[in-house]
Amino acid sequence: MKPPPTTDSPTEWLSPQAGYMLLALMEATEAANRGEVPIGAVVSDAQGRILAQGGNQTRSDLDPTAHAEVVVLRQAARRRGDHRLLDTQLHVTLQPCPMCLEALRQARVTTVVYAGQRLWEHSPLPPCSLQQEKASEEVAVGLLSQFFQQKRA
Ligand SMILES: [Zn+2]
Repeated sequence: MKPPPTTDSPTEWLSPQAGYMLLALMEATEAANRGEVPIGAVVSDAQGRILAQGGNQTRSDLDPTAHAEVVVLRQAARRRGDHRLLDTQLHVTLQPCPMCLEALRQARVTTVVYAGQRLWEHSPLPPCSLQQEKASEEVAVGLLSQFFQQKRA
């Protein structure tokens, strides 16, 4: 592994924040060793404890959603026993893609710190064809309405 990048302030590198990113970089290296795209991530809580750390697993898991961020969100949620990860921060070695950014919002992660900047603003992949099946709309929306009415009652 390469030596840590130099910063203007050596104390910045020695901060706990830098420690999380170093762990994420190590996970990225591990991912590369497994033949995955080298991206790593770490979730920590408000007390500084590490809830999860991991890297990309899309190829080994045959899971197109197994980006490093999603991998560690799942681990952290299981460890906490809660699908909401309030008062947590996530360190990731590359700016999250739109899928992961939305997953981080859904998980209520407080702060996301990334190292590398994505080279593109939007996904270079072609968009999916998005179509609505009107015939099923009423039933689908009805299920949701019922669920939230019971939640509020
Ligand atoms: Zn992603």
